Amino acid sequence: MEETLDPYIKIAQYEQREKEMQSRLDELADFVENASMPLHRVNGKGIIIWANQAELDYLGYDKEEYVGYPISNFHADEHVINDILNRLTLNETLQDYPARLKCKDGSFKHAVISSSVLRKDGEFIHTRCFTRDITEIRKEQEDKEALIFELEQNEARLRMVVASTKLGTWDYHPKTGKLFWSDECKNIYGRPLNREVDFEIYEKQLHPEDKDWVLEKIQQAMDPAGDGQYDITLRIIRFDDSRIRWIRAQGKVYFSADLQAERFIGTVVDITDNRLAAERAAKLAAIIDSSDDAIISKTLDGIITSWNNSAERTFGYTADEIIGRSVLTLIPDDRLEEEPMILSRLRRGERVEHFETVRITKDRRLLNVSLTISPLKDPQGNIIGLSKIARDITDKKQEDLRKNDFIAMVSHELKTPLTAIQSYIQILLAKEKKESDSFKINALTRAEVQAKKMTSMIQDFLSLARLEDGKIQLNKERFELHPLMEEIAGDALFLTTNHTVKLHDCEDILIDADRDKIGQVLLNLLSNAIKYSPKGGTIIMGCEKADSKVTIFVKDEGVGIGLDDQKKLFDKFYRVRNETVKTISGFGIGLYLVSEILRYHKSKIEVESKEGVGAKFFFGLDMQNPR
Ligand code: ADP
Repeated sequence: MEETLDPYIKIAQYEQREKEMQSRLDELADFVENASMPLHRVNGKGIIIWANQAELDYLGYDKEEYVGYPISNFHADEHVINDILNRLTLNETLQDYPARLKCKDGSFKHAVISSSVLRKDGEFIHTRCFTRDITEIRKEQEDKEALIFELEQNEARLRMVVASTKLGTWDYHPKTGKLFWSDECKNIYGRPLNREVDFEIYEKQLHPEDKDWVLEKIQQAMDPAGDGQYDITLRIIRFDDSRIRWIRAQGKVYFSADLQAERFIGTVVDITDNRLAAERAAKLAAIIDSSDDAIISKTLDGIITSWNNSAERTFGYTADEIIGRSVLTLIPDDRLEEEPMILSRLRRGERVEHFETVRITKDRRLLNVSLTISPLKDPQGNIIGLSKIARDITDKKQEDLRKNDFIAMVSHELKTPLTAIQSYIQILLAKEKKESDSFKINALTRAEVQAKKMTSMIQDFLSLARLEDGKIQLNKERFELHPLMEEIAGDALFLTTNHTVKLHDCEDILIDADRDKIGQVLLNLLSNAIKYSPKGGTIIMGCEKADSKVTIFVKDEGVGIGLDDQKKLFDKFYRVRNETVKTISGFGIGLYLVSEILRYHKSKIEVESKEGVGAKFFFGLDMQNPR
């Protein structure tokens, strides 16, 4: 056929074909140049020899900045591009090889590269690289990983929390009736860990009195019209030991698209101990609030932290008014030093009980109160505060005052006839001594001793009554100690036949004090020394001088006093009660008077003693310079 064609026609046909080819090539070139997929070619030396617009746009370069440069310039990871080029040199075809590319603006893009080499006669001509952007996909993936990581962390944390709170978890599938309990949940119900449970088992462990309403609550929670929330406190009966326990169950129901309760999951915790503690606390609070005594607690700095109803009644402040304020609000100015004193006693571990003092109300009334104070301790035993019970004893005080008045009156009435009796005895005695009838002398001497004893007793009662009334007054004068001591020793010797009384080192001492009352102190100490040394012995009434002070002591060889009793000896009406002294009579006011009289003299009575060995009572006074 061809033979027959005219050569011109043939040429024309060729030209035509070439034109068609050219136009197809142009189309192809256009297609490649303008393809939406980034494409490039790299020569055997790794230099970019061509890139389409999509690739330039993708990374943000102009053609002049990209073509002609090594491809490795545009990769973020050198080892990646080296590997790609290596593989291609070895004639591998790469499919979706992940790489990070550098953009002109400094950012990176995640891409996958597919590439193969065009060879002619075995020679490397260039690569054909297709780049596909996966930045978005990568980002999503990274976000997802971060989320999963966070979830895992949260779950781990949750697991820890659950484990440490003894929180049981449960998971109920109402449609299938399947119920799953965590180990801790089984522990709470007292069920074996290796056995499954079901709803029936659960129902059986509900306390009979709670069962009905609990089942109803469950139904309510699963009602699609509600919010699916569940939070109840109920009693169960443990499976293993049948103990009743209080538990709190919380949960949530999840509904399917067709509003069926699909899953019901939640937690359970045994709150029996908390509940008992709360009940105890509530009971205690009720007791405190109904108490007739004011009960107050405060910090170590004296800030009031609690205040019961009776405190409000007694002092007039409401809890709101006083909590947070200093306890000094309640203390009269002249007793402010009591607080540090009480605190130091408590710190030493001593108890402060029935401490009688005066407090002040909101309307400035003075109240007589008896305080009992105990430390509040933390579990380590450190004192963190104080609790104070204050009893209003104003009425009792008034009653005491009436009694005192009575005693004072009676004593006074007794004193007058007694003085008369004593005078008659003395006259008769003087007369008899001249006529020297030894029997009569003896009888009268005894009568006089008894009358003196009674006088001293009445004297003590009168002093006590005056003291209680706050009517005691000191008549101070300067006087020599020694003559007073001789008088007292002389009087005391009437009381005994088997004791020796010695005065020791008390000459030339001048003091400024109430002579009668110091005499009363010495007589009390001396008669005690005699009374509590039933087997006799030597009693020393002596002085020790140091600088301008004198310490006056009375020392005996009698029954002595145990350490416990020594602390309380000076309390009003306190008497030691043991086998050795129970037959010795007394009222327990002598040493109280001694300590009070000395307190008025700004001095203090002290004792040193050993049981069975003897006792030494002593006190200090200021010495005066002779004029
Ligand atoms: P009374 O002697 O009337 O009981 P006091 O107040 O004088 O009261 O003494 C209180 C207690 O102290 C006494 O009951 C006694 O047990 C004890 N006591 C006082 N002085 C001595 C002493 N010298 N030796 C031993 N015990 C003493």
